[in-house]
Amino acid sequence: VTAEPGRTRPVLIRPGLAVGGGTPVVIAGPCSVETPEQIRAAAQAVRRAGARMLRGGAFKPRTSPYSFQGLGEEGLRLLAQAGQLTGLPVVTEVMDPREIDLVARYADLLQVGARNMQNFRLLTALGEIDKPVLLKRGPGATLEEWLNAAEYVASRGNERIILCERGIRTFETYTRYTLDLASAVAAKQLTHLPVIADPSHACGRRELVPAMALAALAAGLDGVMLEVHPDPARALSDGEQALTPVDLERFMAAAGLLSGTS
Ligand code: PEP
Ligand code: MN
Repeated sequence: VTAEPGRTRPVLIRPGLAVGGGTPVVIAGPCSVETPEQIRAAAQAVRRAGARMLRGGAFKPRTSPYSFQGLGEEGLRLLAQAGQLTGLPVVTEVMDPREIDLVARYADLLQVGARNMQNFRLLTALGEIDKPVLLKRGPGATLEEWLNAAEYVASRGNERIILCERGIRTFETYTRYTLDLASAVAAKQLTHLPVIADPSHACGRRELVPAMALAALAAGLDGVMLEVHPDPARALSDGEQALTPVDLERFMAAAGLLSGTS
């Protein structure tokens, strides 16, 4: 992935939508798919605000085994339906190589979560599919380890990889993690891969998310992934960091990405 440093090759999600093609792409949606009503409301809010892709977890890598683990295949089905309803392509996490075929049936972009960045069996298997991969940086991974993880996918033939900086662990505890924008910019300089940022998981607090998302775009990254929930106070996961639909519209306006006029 470092053969043509700094020359970003766009990754096509579907005809008409590429990440890394100049216009930054905003991916938004809830942490988890929870109910048909919740994901439908979220998708409509995402669509109205002018974001280009819908996110939502169905297989959730939760810190505690007693926390909500996601709806599994039913979540994938609801996510795909909400995507079809709104015309938005969808991204969702795959945690296990044995579930790649299942997830790929529903998703336009397959996410490798931070905790699985060095799950080499998963990476190798994703290198053999015909769908793009969103590779999150592990919270304890160096830039070099992150790029090597991308290499695991690319070396098997699948070069449709988007990198996502989602915060690394530092001594700071006020924020959930620390958004490492310098490494994200370095990843763009060192590779041909599009790079986006996820300030939601990095900050862990919704009030910090819009400013950090704007910072990521100002730094020249290819997009941002934002958690948005129709009713964050009732979210089954990551409610504290979820933007409301109004927050998302304000962010889109601040970023100059509002769809309203086009
Ligand atoms: C997520 O995107 O829902 C997620 C679990 O993120 P991360 O793997 O970055 O913690
Ligand atoms: Mn989350």
